[in-house]
Amino acid sequence: MFDKILIANRGEIALRIHRACREMGIHTVAVHSTADENAMQVRLADESVCIGPAPSAESYLNIPNIVSAAMITGAEAIHPGYGFLSENAYFAEIVEAHGIVFIGPSPQHIETMGDKVAAKEAMIAAGVPVVPGSDGAVAAIDDARQTADRIGYPVLIKAASGGGGKGMKVADNADVLAEQINLARREAKANFGDDSVYLEKYLANPRHIELQIVADDEGNVVHLGERDCSLQRNHQKVLEEAPSPALNAGERQRLGEIGCNAIRSLGYRNAGTLEFLYENGEFYFIEMNTRLQVEHPVSEAISGIDIVREQIRIADGAPLSFKQEDIDFYGHAIECRINAEDPATFAPWPGRIVEYHPPGGLGVRVDSGLYAGYSVPPHYDSMIAKLIVHGATRNECLMRLRRALEEFVITGVRTTIPLHRQLMAQDDFINGEYDIRWLEAYVARQAGA
Ligand code: ADP
Repeated sequence: MFDKILIANRGEIALRIHRACREMGIHTVAVHSTADENAMQVRLADESVCIGPAPSAESYLNIPNIVSAAMITGAEAIHPGYGFLSENAYFAEIVEAHGIVFIGPSPQHIETMGDKVAAKEAMIAAGVPVVPGSDGAVAAIDDARQTADRIGYPVLIKAASGGGGKGMKVADNADVLAEQINLARREAKANFGDDSVYLEKYLANPRHIELQIVADDEGNVVHLGERDCSLQRNHQKVLEEAPSPALNAGERQRLGEIGCNAIRSLGYRNAGTLEFLYENGEFYFIEMNTRLQVEHPVSEAISGIDIVREQIRIADGAPLSFKQEDIDFYGHAIECRINAEDPATFAPWPGRIVEYHPPGGLGVRVDSGLYAGYSVPPHYDSMIAKLIVHGATRNECLMRLRRALEEFVITGVRTTIPLHRQLMAQDDFINGEYDIRWLEAYVARQAGA
């Protein structure tokens, strides 16, 4: 097993990875920007290296500095977390070229699945249902018109290299198709340096349901159940739950089979997530994330598996320590993403934390690097904490979550805790009846009220 791992990330996920390493007896190296000198993951790590100034481009995305930090400290492996360099195939390749293990899939898999057009083609080849759309990237506008006529309006234009909901545009009819394609191309070019886009049927009221998988080098593939991530704003997840309140046992089993077969046929290793839209009893693949995800703790809660520990074991060449039939799913888990934002306008709210009192008790987990006196820097993502609650039933989970949200105190910055408290009182949420459009409609109603 590795003796030392470098964690190429920041915030709660850096801490999460540190915790797994610690439990496994592995030393940790934290890397940080000048803005993160006082961050919790830097305090807790065995060693730390400053890799550049505050802007991510010069620090958390600075490949030469990160690889140098690993060489200097003698780290044998790098865990990329999520975001930043986690889905950068070139980074994975450079890391391995320096004799360091990249804790994740092969650079080839990152590259193929990172190109959403190639990913969809790979999934079609593996027999996975996908959202109807263009065969590959859009070449000429005339082809796009034909495709749109075939699949029917509205259509969604998506960036092949997209992520975080950027480079996505809806065309309601043929008159605006060319214009929306050009807008999407421009946004894609500016954000991802690649202007290729593709078309998809715009599903009216789907749910976002994804499958967590883990796979080893020997071809063993196990899924850790699905997550329902339909509560979204601007195509960004706000709250996730496992299992999905929308699926019955038969659908759940079908999803697991589709997903595991696809991963097996790809020859993929390490942790990954297959994302689907689900409408009228059908699953449609939309994309694969070749990394650990923000919402992984809800799957850990219901499966009892430490996903980061498994990632490290797999990267070390060990086979999975369990089979599908060993996974004994238990109970229900919900994660609330807590952002330093105004809960009504969602304007980012960096600043100094005055009081910090996380909730506790049975079934309550808080992943966060916060402490009183810590300053949330303005340079990065606004997520500052994740509250994950587990209960024997969805109802118990909701009662516990309501109680935990009441206890949670963060002062000095505005947070989205009040939004989550409000959600707990909404009948649609309580009944599990919501789709990917629900939260935006709710927020709009609140703004109008
Ligand atoms: P990104 O990588 O930018 O997050 P995804 O492909 O994962 O993009 O889609 C993000 C979200 O956008 C989905 O969770 C869903 O809410 C919405 N979405 C994506 N594809 C479609 C579609 N074909 N129809 C309707 N909504 C979609």
